[in-house]
Formats: sequence, C-alpha cells, structure tokens
Amino acid sequence: MAVVKANAYGHGDVEVSKALNRAGVYSFAVATITEGIDLRKHGVEGDILVLGYTNPKDISSLVHYHLIQTVVDSTYAETLNRYGKKIKVHIKLDTGMHRLGEMFDNIPNIKRIYGCKNLIIGGTYSHLCVADSLNPSDIEFSRYQIDCFYQTIKCMDDLGLDPGKIHIQSSYGVLNYPELQCDYARIGIALYGVLSSKDDKTKLSVDLRPVLSLKARIVTIKQIAIGETVGYGRQFTADRDTKIAVVSIGYADGLPRNLSCGRGAVLINGEYAPIIGRVCMDQLMVDITHIKNVEQGDVVTIIGQDGRGRISAEQIAKESGTITNELLSRLGNRLERIYSR
Ligand SMILES: *Cc1c(COP(=O)(O)O)cnc(C)c1O
Repeated sequence: MAVVKANAYGHGDVEVSKALNRAGVYSFAVATITEGIDLRKHGVEGDILVLGYTNPKDISSLVHYHLIQTVVDSTYAETLNRYGKKIKVHIKLDTGMHRLGEMFDNIPNIKRIYGCKNLIIGGTYSHLCVADSLNPSDIEFSRYQIDCFYQTIKCMDDLGLDPGKIHIQSSYGVLNYPELQCDYARIGIALYGVLSSKDDKTKLSVDLRPVLSLKARIVTIKQIAIGETVGYGRQFTADRDTKIAVVSIGYADGLPRNLSCGRGAVLINGEYAPIIGRVCMDQLMVDITHIKNVEQGDVVTIIGQDGRGRISAEQIAKESGTITNELLSRLGNRLERIYSR
C-alpha cells in the first residue's frame, strides 16, 4: 500500500500515484478525504484508504468517490453507520501509540464495530511508534505492539469476526521487522528512496535511491566589499571581498529557515556554496567567491547530485533539526514539479 499523503511527501500525489498505477500498484493510503477525492478526480485507480478522521458531514463523498475510511474508534464506527449507506472501512487498533484506533483489548467495542451493519469491514490495522529504532527497549515495545495486534486478530477470528486484510508495517516496520507477513505494508518515506534520518541503522538494508532532486536558479550575482553585510538582520559580514549569488528559493518553498548563516549549502557547478545570512521567504544568498564561471540563470542544486557534489534530503533534514518526512512533505506548491522516467 503506497502512502501518498501530504502530496506524496511533497513529490506530487497525482503523478506519483499514476506512475504507481502503471507499475501495477493499486492500493494507496492518504491522510484526508480531500486528498483521496483529488486522486479520484485525476483518475487514480485502486483502493484508497483514508488514514485520518473524516468529518461526518463529508461521509457522502466517501461513498461517491469509493474511498475506504479508517474507523478511528467504536464511537466513530457508529457515527458512520448511522449515515445509512454502505461504507467501506478498515478498523484501526491502538496497540500502544495512543493516537488513532480502538483499544486492541476492548473486545466489547470491537464487537460493536462489527454490529454496524452499514460498515463493510475490509481490513484491520495498527501502527508501530518506535519501529525505526533498534535499541533493545524499543525493539521490545515494537514486539509487544506486534503481539497485541496478532492476539486481537486471533481473538476476532475465534469470534467469527473477519478482520479482512491486515497490516501493521510502515517503511521502518518492513526494514526492521521484515519477517512479518501481512496482507499490506504501508510504505511512505522509503517509497521515495530516502530514510527518515541519515544515521538510521536498519535490520534489512535496501538500496534506496532518492526519487527527488530540488533545484533553483541563480537570480543575480554581486561583488561585495570586506565589511559589508548580507540579508535581513545583517547576519553575515564579509571578512574579505566576496562574490555572492542570490538563489530563487526560500522558506515559503519549504526550505527550512534554520539553514541560515552557513548551516546549509547548495551546489553550483559541482561545488558547495554555503548559505550566507538568513534564508528569506523567496530567496537565499550564497557565497560563490571560490566557484568559477557562475552566471545568472544557472541551475543551483539544493537536493541532489551536481558533478562530484551531492546533497541528500537526509543531510538537509539533519542540518535543520528534523526528519526527511517533514522536509519533503513541506516542499511548497509553488515549486514546479518536473517528472522524468
Ligand atoms: C504516514 C503513515 C505511514 C507511512 O509511514 P512511513 O514511515 O513514511 O513509511 C504508515 N501508516 C500510517 C498510519 C501513517 O500515518
């Protein structure tokens, strides 16, 4: 099950989902009903599971667009049931993350969900909250969650309640617990060829290759003298005569502002150009004193490969104190998406 929520982690959900359709993937997960509707309107085929809450006033759209809704607890199941039309659902079980899901051991409530005659239950799932960690106490907790999940599935089977397709792994669930044999794995970040964090060790090592490069252009080039400053707050002062370039990307495009003042760099002609001063909303400035033959309009690589230089999403996420999931999913709509095969 390809997780294409948040605009496919910034990659463009329609294009990604259609490419996956062409590759034979017919099962998707989104966070919201709006995301699901948008995929349908653009002709995406297959199952689309809404992982999050849908406002009861929008239930009719679940039916109209053939979306599968997550049952976030038994009370919500009864709300969906009252709508009076058949709705496809997957039941979510809370096995310890304490976000969404009916408590795995509340069998009376699980029975109540099955008592909802308008719900077509096609699956049952849970979510692991420390599957990315290989430290022993985290492994113990994940194993506990997995045990709780299978215990409940067995109990449902024994009671004659068909759980349908079962799934508990996301990217790190597969990378660290590859032995689990569920009907689906909900793959998000790994689908885009990156890990959440640069230093993550995983039990299974897969040759992940990033799908995305992020590029901008050089807007203008200028020479500043020693002692002059650059940008808002005058946070950069030239300690020598300096050649700078203004680059056409800023924090409104999702590039974190805390890459300011040398914490981040970009690639120009295969060389690293440090970000100087503060990242602005629509631009940033870099030091190019050491780089030859730079011209207005040249391509700047923010994420990706340029000559012998390479900047990964993992690296930028680390420099800005976050994970690639956040960095990529916040890439702005203003960025033109260009797809190649
Ligand atoms: C976002 C999400 C996923 C995908 O997680 P990744 O770590 O990106 O693979 C899977 N399941 C649920 C419930 C999610 O919210």
